[in-house]
Amino acid sequence: MPTLFEKIIARQIAGDIVHQDDRVTAFRDIHPRAPVHILIVPNKPIPTANDIEDGDEALVGHMFTVARDLAKREGIADNGYRLIINCNTHGGQEVYHLHVHLVGGAPLGPMLSR
Ligand code: 5GP
Repeated sequence: MPTLFEKIIARQIAGDIVHQDDRVTAFRDIHPRAPVHILIVPNKPIPTANDIEDGDEALVGHMFTVARDLAKREGIADNGYRLIINCNTHGGQEVYHLHVHLVGGAPLGPMLSR
C-alpha cells in the first residue's frame, strides 16, 4: 500500500508542494504547528529512520540541504528554525514514510515539554 506521502509525491492527491527534484519532495504540512511547517521527504519510500541504509547517506544529506535552502527561501534562516525527525511510537511518528519537519517563523520554545 503506498503511503499518503507517496501519493503526494506522485501528485495523485493534492499537496502544497514547495520543492521537488529527482530525490526529494517538500510540501507544507496540512496541520502546521508553526507559521512555517514544511515536510521534506525522500521520493523513495523509507519507512522510518531505522530503515535508512548506508547507501542512503547522500539522499539523507540532500534532505538537509533542501531544508537549508527552503529555510532561506521562507525567510526563517537568520532567526532560526527546528528540524525534526520522529521515529516509531515513542517518537510520535504518524506517517511511516521518512520525513524531516522544517518548522519556524516564531519562537518555538524548549525542544521537549514535560
Ligand atoms: P509525524 O508525526 O509522522 O512525524 O508527522 C506526520 C505529519 O504529516 C504531521 O505533522 C501531519 O500533520 C502531516 N500530515 C498528515 N497527513 C497529511 C496530508 O495528507 N498532507 C499533508 N501535507 N500533511 C499531512
